[in-house]
Amino acid sequence: MSFFRYSARRRIFSDGPHQDRRSALLTLAGILWASPLTLCGLLLALPIMIGKGQLAVVHSPTPALLVSGKVADYLLDRHPFGAMCAMAIGHILIADLKSLTPQILTHELAHVRQAAVWGALFPFAYLAASLWAVLHGHDAYWNNAFEVAARRAERHS
Ligand SMILES: [Zn+2]
Repeated sequence: MSFFRYSARRRIFSDGPHQDRRSALLTLAGILWASPLTLCGLLLALPIMIGKGQLAVVHSPTPALLVSGKVADYLLDRHPFGAMCAMAIGHILIADLKSLTPQILTHELAHVRQAAVWGALFPFAYLAASLWAVLHGHDAYWNNAFEVAARRAERHS
């Protein structure tokens, strides 16, 4: 197991100490609120780590733990929505490092922020958004409102 720091885009401008403290408190609240999902992510990360996986800490713009390795690749290939190169479960990102681009990382961090807002309700809200898309004759994954928002974040990365 190797442990390294993964530094994504850093904020260039600070909004001052009050704004920084408020933002840190919101981040902490999001981590606590999404913790039931993060716990599920950690359970999934366990076999990845046992299978000689790697851990990386993403600090910015959203904190997350990036987990990768052979078992991660195996799980991602069998994702229910089709083969994926990364997925977020709470504050855990499971990724195939060979295909992880800054855009994909930004996309997945958008899902981490969505989980921080919705907490344990996020999987239900996500499924409801898929159902909504299907009921309107659209694709359950591509037209899911959470995916649309994550792709928008990707474009602004
Ligand atoms: Zn997505």
